Amino acid sequence: MKEFELINRYFKGRGITRRDVDLGIGDDCALVSVPENSQLAITTDTLVCGVHFFEDIPPRALGHRVLAVNLSDLAAMGAEPTWVSLALTLPSVDLEWLEAFTEGLHEIAEYYNVQVIGGDTTQGPLTITVCAKGIIPKGKALTRSGAKVGDWIFVTGPLGDAGLAIEARKQGLNITPENKQDVEKRFYFPTPRVAAGQVLRGLATSAIDVSDGLVADLGHILRKSNVNATVQVEKVPVSEAMKATLSEQERWPYVLSYGDDYELLFTVSDTNKSTLANKLKQYGVEAKCVGQILAGNGQLELTLRGQKFALPARGYEHFSNE
Ligand code: ADP
Ligand code: MG
Repeated sequence: MKEFELINRYFKGRGITRRDVDLGIGDDCALVSVPENSQLAITTDTLVCGVHFFEDIPPRALGHRVLAVNLSDLAAMGAEPTWVSLALTLPSVDLEWLEAFTEGLHEIAEYYNVQVIGGDTTQGPLTITVCAKGIIPKGKALTRSGAKVGDWIFVTGPLGDAGLAIEARKQGLNITPENKQDVEKRFYFPTPRVAAGQVLRGLATSAIDVSDGLVADLGHILRKSNVNATVQVEKVPVSEAMKATLSEQERWPYVLSYGDDYELLFTVSDTNKSTLANKLKQYGVEAKCVGQILAGNGQLELTLRGQKFALPARGYEHFSNE
């Protein structure tokens, strides 16, 4: 199958059609209309086979995941996702694989009202890059640099499940089939906190999505905002599957240092704390307060039931020698 046949079959005319797309797939560029008084938010993420996913990942999950991780970045800025482009590098043309992959991709794209407006298709080692775009009312984006002394630190949901899914595969942990299924679902089909991100606008002071683990990602906020923080680790939410599988002591590396959960971590002033928590609840999001911002220059202190708590292994970082 030639490249253009493949594009026609799997991408052109598939998925949703947005009114603000003036020209979609098929020309040298796509053309879109950005609403007045808005800013365009743009993010890119690449998934490389063997690095970000196992070779045997179900292709439908891969299609979902590659868009989900990009939508999560848009959510962390408070953006409304609108358009995506897709660079697909395939070792060979496997029609069954492509059918499932594009089904997963278009499924989540439709759910969030996002249109695939273009891309590129090449031959090589399996690599997928998505560039997602979104819109934000001018000046309303949430950044990593706005945390203030006294702000409270919240997460939108349980952490550690994706890491548990990875380790369950690798080491044969003692996990029930039901719990394994639950955590695998979170790893393969992560839910970007798209609605929550937009609720945070104008209320949260800073936000980030937890892709590299709570400690690493909160660290970004602390350094960019030039503040310290204290986190009470026993307050970090964990799933029932996590509780049933690991003892409290065994959980900490997963909860604090593993990534891939795609919850949002945000800070909010004491004044706006309950308003925001209640608003999130209306969207079905039970955000939990896990700590507070203190004066300082980027340091994080962890406590466990009032005692100083030493940090377990770090979150995943590419090109780090550790
Ligand atoms: P060009 O050579 O001008 O870059 P291509 O022949 O690569 O254009 O692509 C033709 C059209 O198909 C373009 O609109 C491009 O955005 C789109 N396209 C190519 N690959 C993909 C893909 N994997 N997903 C979505 N659209 C794609
Ligand atoms: Mg061209």
